[in-house]
Amino acid sequence: MIEPEIVKILASKAADICFDELSAHLNDEDRARRDGDRGSLVRLTGEFHLHLVRLTGNQVLIRLMTELQALVCLAILLYANGDDGCPVQEHRRIVTAIKKQDGASAANLMLSHLEHIERDLKLDEKPVLHISEALTWLGQREASLARS
Ligand SMILES: [Zn+2]
Repeated sequence: MIEPEIVKILASKAADICFDELSAHLNDEDRARRDGDRGSLVRLTGEFHLHLVRLTGNQVLIRLMTELQALVCLAILLYANGDDGCPVQEHRRIVTAIKKQDGASAANLMLSHLEHIERDLKLDEKPVLHISEALTWLGQREASLARS
């Protein structure tokens, strides 16, 4: 598992990290959730994980996570049973632990967060979305990442 390590790294250098962008991102997630905008919410919750890895400044990790995240988003769009990929408030708790430089808590929170996402996926059931719609969405995601 890479992501618990990523948040540990971030907690260890939290004093030198600017969290403004991450905080703004959390507000965007809240807004999409309030508006019931599932497509945006899945994209934003996926981007949260990319924001985290970007803050490490490690190019290899960033490339790896960007590829992985595309697959995770696709799986969530097709098979997630709940209304969104990432459970409410868990992202905020992870960021709070990082800011407090509490690497152990941040890593534990990330671990249970990933478990929640996995549990929400019903991979042996019929997809909730047609694959062509999911691929269109994925193309839009790529375009939006290229702009950011
Ligand atoms: Zn998440």
